[in-house]
Amino acid sequence: MATFEDFDLPKSLQKAIDELGFTTPTPIQQRAMPVILSGRDVMGIAQTGTGKTFAYLLPVLKQWKFAKTDTPRVVIIVPTRELVVQVAEETEKLTQYMSVRVLGIYGGVNINTQKNKVYEGVDILVGTPGRIMDLALDGVVRFDALQKLIIDEFDEILNLGFRFQVTSILSMMKQKRQNILFSATMTDEIDEMLNDFFDFPEEVSLAPSGTPLEKIRQQAYHVPNFLTKLNLLKVLLQNEELQRVLVFVNNKRTADLVIESLEEEYEAQFGVIHSNKSQNYRLKTMAAFQEGELRGIVTTDVMARGLDISGITHVINIEFPDVPEQYIHRIGRTGRADAEGTAISMISPKEEEQQIETELLMEKELELLPLPENVKIEEKLLDFEKTKQKVKQLLKKPKQEGGEAFHDKKDKNKKVNLGGPGKRTPRKTAPRNRAVEAKRAAKKKKGK
Ligand code: AMP
Repeated sequence: MATFEDFDLPKSLQKAIDELGFTTPTPIQQRAMPVILSGRDVMGIAQTGTGKTFAYLLPVLKQWKFAKTDTPRVVIIVPTRELVVQVAEETEKLTQYMSVRVLGIYGGVNINTQKNKVYEGVDILVGTPGRIMDLALDGVVRFDALQKLIIDEFDEILNLGFRFQVTSILSMMKQKRQNILFSATMTDEIDEMLNDFFDFPEEVSLAPSGTPLEKIRQQAYHVPNFLTKLNLLKVLLQNEELQRVLVFVNNKRTADLVIESLEEEYEAQFGVIHSNKSQNYRLKTMAAFQEGELRGIVTTDVMARGLDISGITHVINIEFPDVPEQYIHRIGRTGRADAEGTAISMISPKEEEQQIETELLMEKELELLPLPENVKIEEKLLDFEKTKQKVKQLLKKPKQEGGEAFHDKKDKNKKVNLGGPGKRTPRKTAPRNRAVEAKRAAKKKKGK
């Protein structure tokens, strides 16, 4: 088995790793190391929880040499503020015995304070696309000494509509550099961006069997409506095995409904994280959960994305995710490392189609359980459940929820011409969609 010693890291870096207690590189770390060291552009496909952050940090830091410059030599773009904080912290931990200045910048906080910090000098800059773009347009962040551009969670950055910001940043980077891109999934949009902006990056990915899904029990309940889901949640939580729980919903409005309902019976045991909460509140809630002061967190996909929360015993989907891949991301928050985990999904009649699509993607069916007898069945539908149109709008909402400054949101809508249809690659999703159609057709036939 490979060890970190095989990487032949400088002493200062090895010492930091020893202190973190890591002994064996993860598969993505092993695979990414030689490719990143080669200096080529790299496209890494790996989910959160696989050790992907260190997969790009380690080779970059192994090659680190002292240089007399105050402008960043490495820029890391990530989708959310929480990830900026997390990646900056991980970088600081790894560089504690090196002389590297790390700075995290993100939207929604005073830009002048951040400007001053940039002026003080920075070697590794971590930031959200909007804030990096703004500071670069102002001439505060400069790319003259840039050697490596890292884009982490690339699919999520594009999902959140930050393509314009990313392309603007790229157009300001004139120097030759190494591009290191990481994404949980390969999407058509990423393919397109690779064609237009990057130099045939070498793909590094984990074998699909390496996904954590096998260790996760996947259970589901068919539940008639949202209020009954809240009743079911409270009944499920009577089971003490649900020790550390991540509760997912599709938007911040339902997140608030869930937390209000939980407060009635499980007062102060749960926190909520969504983009309407202040940055400070979100970080405090995360810390309280990490330290075990909270039993669970209610959150949306965007907020939970990339957050490294350890020891989750149960993931509960109060609302089924709109996109199948999102389901896999959500349940991957449990069953990490050597732990087993359970994912419980509550599926309303309108969400059954998404369930089928997800099962087809995973080639695995959810274990459908009967509703426990003590769950009170409600008749009433909430407004958002009443018409299909409204439900669809609500389900789409999380994608808008970047938590960025106002102009970031506005800029998301700007379209940029990136080379026209001639450059596009074939849709990777086509075969899967055909399979869904087939299963749907088979289901319809059975129903007749
Ligand atoms: P990531 O996929 O980058 O979000 O990392 C998931 C978690 O794994 C983080 O808490 C890392 O600190 C941790 N981690 C990264 N590399 C290793 C390793 N080689 N051994 C053990 N834990 C690791």
